[in-house]
Amino acid sequence: MASSDIQPGLLRKMTVRRVLECLQQLGPLSRADLTRETGISAPTVSKAVADLLDSGLLEEGAAPDNVLGRPGKRLQLAQDRAQVLGVVLDAGTCDVVAASLDGAIHQEMTTTFATPSRYDNLRQLMSDAVCDMIASSTATTLGIGISMPGLTDENAQRNLFSPNLHAINQQNPAADLFAATGVTAIAMQDARALCMAERLYGNARGLHDFAMLDVSTGLGLGVFSGGELLSGHNGFAGELGHITVDPTGKLCGCGNHGCLETLATDTALAAMISDRLGERLSAEVVIERLHNGELQAPQEVNRVCEYLAIAMASVINLFNPSNLLIHGGFPSISESILPQVIRMTQRRALAPSFERCEIKTAATTKQLAAIAAIVHHLTCAAGPRVSD
Ligand SMILES: [Zn+2]
Repeated sequence: MASSDIQPGLLRKMTVRRVLECLQQLGPLSRADLTRETGISAPTVSKAVADLLDSGLLEEGAAPDNVLGRPGKRLQLAQDRAQVLGVVLDAGTCDVVAASLDGAIHQEMTTTFATPSRYDNLRQLMSDAVCDMIASSTATTLGIGISMPGLTDENAQRNLFSPNLHAINQQNPAADLFAATGVTAIAMQDARALCMAERLYGNARGLHDFAMLDVSTGLGLGVFSGGELLSGHNGFAGELGHITVDPTGKLCGCGNHGCLETLATDTALAAMISDRLGERLSAEVVIERLHNGELQAPQEVNRVCEYLAIAMASVINLFNPSNLLIHGGFPSISESILPQVIRMTQRRALAPSFERCEIKTAATTKQLAAIAAIVHHLTCAAGPRVSD
């Protein structure tokens, strides 16, 4: 379709989206920079910038003082006058965080609480924390992102089944937060949100084909293929954690036995070590003690390495990613652990696919994943994307 066939309103929205994405990828820019980077005419860019300033997504900063001539003011994603909130729902603990539109988390405002077993209590705690955060800031809250585990119908915004957090089964935390605050709230399945965060803020910036394996609580997988986040028919794609690898193995939170996530995650490692010691230790405590050398568990660590390598080789064989990012505490046990898992992965993956895939740790967190979920939503709401 030629641009002249597109309605002017639609074209303006597409330009708004393009300008927003440009600032997300490149950081603060002047109007002249934006015109050059987007290849769109200066008047059209100026109108889009005006729309974005009105919506609160952008702010005008000072002009750089090291440029000759009359440099234009720099445009940046809102840092002072607007904020977004992120809510991480997880087994163990939940977090509520505030961030500027460029993804910088306001660490001093972070709230963490133990995850209650009943949804009523969880809804109350997250609503109270979010309302406090909105009330205590002078910035306008533009939206709330929620990262939550399990199968999530992102169209209906309802969690259908969460093997590791049954309290949220059939619940709609985004609707509940909207009812409590009147602020737009959007929920994403945690691995998909983490994948989005890596692309916006982490080690997958600018990548079109990559995979992110989350091995912290459950085993989650997010895949970008051809620049699009793989969703499947209902948004449930990527549940690698519930593939059976040991038919007579341990009972999984999903009701099956011997799922990959009962063998290849931080939680699985903590459970194996806890069983041997006869003492319940959390994944965080186990990882920290192994890292400090206070705990020795070579057999359990090796068993998790083997299954993690099976998970990684499966992802490499299935999706041919250019990069595979690993999120979780496991790689922080020691400097040698990731290279060890990579060697094991090499033995199990198809050589051409393995050789073309770079494996590294993820740079973002579930907190940033929740922020990425709402930033992505606001970006999509700004206008349709201009296809390459
Ligand atoms: Zn399972």
